[in-house]
Amino acid sequence: MTKKKTEYHHRRIGDHDLRPESLMMSYGYRPEWSEGAVKPPIFQTSTFAFRSAEEGKEFFELAYGLREPRADETAGAIYSRLNNPGLEILEDRLTLWDGAEAASAYESGMAAITTMCLTFLRPGDTLVFNEPIYGGTEYLFHKILPQFGIRIARWNASSGREGLEAVMVQPGVAESVRMIYLESPANPTLDLVDIRHCADMAAAAGRERKVLVAVDNTFLGPLWQHPLKHGADLVIYSLTKFVGGHSDVIAGACLGSEELISQLKGFRTITGSMADPWTSWLLLRSLETLKLRMTSQMKNAGYVADFLEGHPKVSTVRYLGLMTAEHPDFELFRRQCLSPGSMIAFEVEGGREAAFRLLNALQLVKLAVSLGGTESLAEHPGTMTHSDVPPEEQRNMGITDGLIRLSVGIEHPEDVIADLRQALEQA
Ligand code: PLP
Repeated sequence: MTKKKTEYHHRRIGDHDLRPESLMMSYGYRPEWSEGAVKPPIFQTSTFAFRSAEEGKEFFELAYGLREPRADETAGAIYSRLNNPGLEILEDRLTLWDGAEAASAYESGMAAITTMCLTFLRPGDTLVFNEPIYGGTEYLFHKILPQFGIRIARWNASSGREGLEAVMVQPGVAESVRMIYLESPANPTLDLVDIRHCADMAAAAGRERKVLVAVDNTFLGPLWQHPLKHGADLVIYSLTKFVGGHSDVIAGACLGSEELISQLKGFRTITGSMADPWTSWLLLRSLETLKLRMTSQMKNAGYVADFLEGHPKVSTVRYLGLMTAEHPDFELFRRQCLSPGSMIAFEVEGGREAAFRLLNALQLVKLAVSLGGTESLAEHPGTMTHSDVPPEEQRNMGITDGLIRLSVGIEHPEDVIADLRQALEQA
């Protein structure tokens, strides 16, 4: 099926712009392409038949960048490691919330991050990143990338702008920095990083060659934070979380300009890290209800955070919605985030033992890592997602013994609160 871009990229009715939540049921697909099927079928095939040898030649020329596309020409389907209709529809729809020119989808969030690093970093380059950060990303940056000659420098998210500025003037960093990578809110402490400030620092450092700013937007995106609008070049997702939303699929994405994403896709064709047809189809289904789920989760999290804040056994509650005007990041929160989202980190009195007793007593909330699904999940970052980080560093990052990370789902909020109340009694 050779499609014309203008045929399936309708975003308007007359002069009325359609919103992402409306486009999630139609953008990038037309029923007449598939026997009138309202939903795109799963194209469960490894390879695609060409109508003629000439057509095959043309498709390859375009896919391998041997010629410029003709006006309105899109890549024909060749082989599912290069492209697949379901993957392409998914990538088209993933651009909508973030307002990105292009998107690329992968078999996991880590595959997206790894493919991005291998595409844009070379031996001798320095990668600057904030901590705390997701444990798998931390492992990749600390233990794997240095084996390929990539240098790393990091700053503590809680040290704010000064922390990044101090790293950027360290000997060797300013000359070799190629990417600033950040996670905001940071996992699991929910510290905010100022994306615009990172973009300004990257612009100042990159007089001779561009320094890229990449943002892991898994905790708030794609609804509640749009890093490209604040100067980022690349946006990363673990689609396993809010976008997948049902804790039944592992996937990832990277979004950005056509130019950057086409380089990534070229690399992905060779690393073979693309999302498969079934994963793509599941994610298309999930995207249709994304706004409903994230809105409900956010509302529930507000009630849960209020309950936790008033509980005598809880010493600290980290939730963006509880930030007051006195907080040093309040202005940043208002400028950068559209909502507080549904991630909470709280500290129980009594350290690790009390935290474990609480987690073991939960009846409705599941004791599991991951986040963003329809069900509420709780975990202990110090011994689970961030167990790889040495204890001394954990403390510096704010990962204390009593800290519990909670992802609030779509259950009735009073049921989640009832479960936490009885579990706290046993802590
Ligand atoms: N980024 C963040 C913020 C995460 O929490 C995770 C996983 O927990 C990842 C990236 C990695 O994603 P995946 O597990 O889909 O590979």
